[in-house]
Amino acid sequence: MLQTSWIELDKSALKKNIRYLQKRIGRDTTFVSVIKGNAYGHGIEEFVPLAEENGVHNFAVYDAYEAYRALQVKRRDSHLIILGMLDADQMEWVIDNEIAFYIFTYERLEAAIATARKVKKKARIHLELETGMYRTGLEEEILAEVANLIKKNSRYLYIEGICTHYAGAESIANYSRVHEQYACFQRLCKALKRRGIIPQYYHSACSAAALIYPDTIMDLVRFGIAHYGLWPSMETKMKNLLSEDSKFTRDPLKTVLSWKTRVMSVKKVQRGNFINYGNAFLATKNMSLATIPIGYYHGYNRSLSNFGYVLIHGRKAEVVGMVNMNMFMVNVSNIPAVKSGDEVVLIGRQGDMQITVASFSELSNMVNYELLARLPVQIPRHVVESAK
Ligand SMILES: *Cc1c(COP(=O)(O)O)cnc(C)c1O
Repeated sequence: MLQTSWIELDKSALKKNIRYLQKRIGRDTTFVSVIKGNAYGHGIEEFVPLAEENGVHNFAVYDAYEAYRALQVKRRDSHLIILGMLDADQMEWVIDNEIAFYIFTYERLEAAIATARKVKKKARIHLELETGMYRTGLEEEILAEVANLIKKNSRYLYIEGICTHYAGAESIANYSRVHEQYACFQRLCKALKRRGIIPQYYHSACSAAALIYPDTIMDLVRFGIAHYGLWPSMETKMKNLLSEDSKFTRDPLKTVLSWKTRVMSVKKVQRGNFINYGNAFLATKNMSLATIPIGYYHGYNRSLSNFGYVLIHGRKAEVVGMVNMNMFMVNVSNIPAVKSGDEVVLIGRQGDMQITVASFSELSNMVNYELLARLPVQIPRHVVESAK
């Protein structure tokens, strides 16, 4: 292996997460695995087959490029939905490959009809409704026109979904906004139904909505962060652990991803010397240091300078000095016999210790989502039975 660091995907963790979440939403509710952002950093190519092994056959991507990547690795009977960007000139390929996509403007609906006519296949569409997030979504004022256009062109369209997305279901601060969105969605769906527009699936829930507001579950849930084994927020975690019978004895979600590297070199420093660039860290005693061959180029945030920590020999080693482009130093004074080549855990478990994505992201001022999504595509991903 030529790479400096690697990511491990824990197969049994994913299995547990999917099983738990499917139980929470009910067996008859369709589970959509959201794999945008390179499957939240897990790697589309590695993650899709793994999810399929656990009974997931619906995947949501952000754009045509992610759809293309997923298409190369997915089973024939697995289905893709594009949630976001889709250019007019990509639509032909998308419809021809029977990939579903969101419709959130009248123009896109017109383009879908024109393209479907040309390709001679139905466009599989999800009508995304504006309910109060104000990002993407068809506004109420144009729904009558949308419904008319759909009815006139029903032979070119398959209405796979009618959907919306909540503006922050993971925080109680958005409680009334989420409720208003939910009520608005119900009302608009009814209005469309009266006009004869009835989809295969009504859907609105992401992880947080499904886990906090059961009413939002409907026919299908778009699970992102939770099936990777992370809670959308501390609030979501607390609410779920407190309301369940688990009584904090166990967390039903298991982190799927670990990130590891190896010690590059070790050295001693005498007290009174500054370590690494500038004067960010002064050795106030004699110390042993290990150089870790990872830096901000590899996604190890610079704000972890003098702040983050890693695991070596199952023990915590704190970052001393600045995180450089390709390396940083950790203090191994209290960890005996560290040598180059020893395994270093950046995220994940080693022995009894664990660096959680959550702790790591708090340190680097990023939420789980951002940290994962920023893990570079080039880092190799390996599937392991159970990363201990
Ligand atoms: C990202 C995304 C999701 C998944 O969100 P999680 O909070 O990770 O579960 C669901 N729906 C849409 C439209 C999204 O963009």
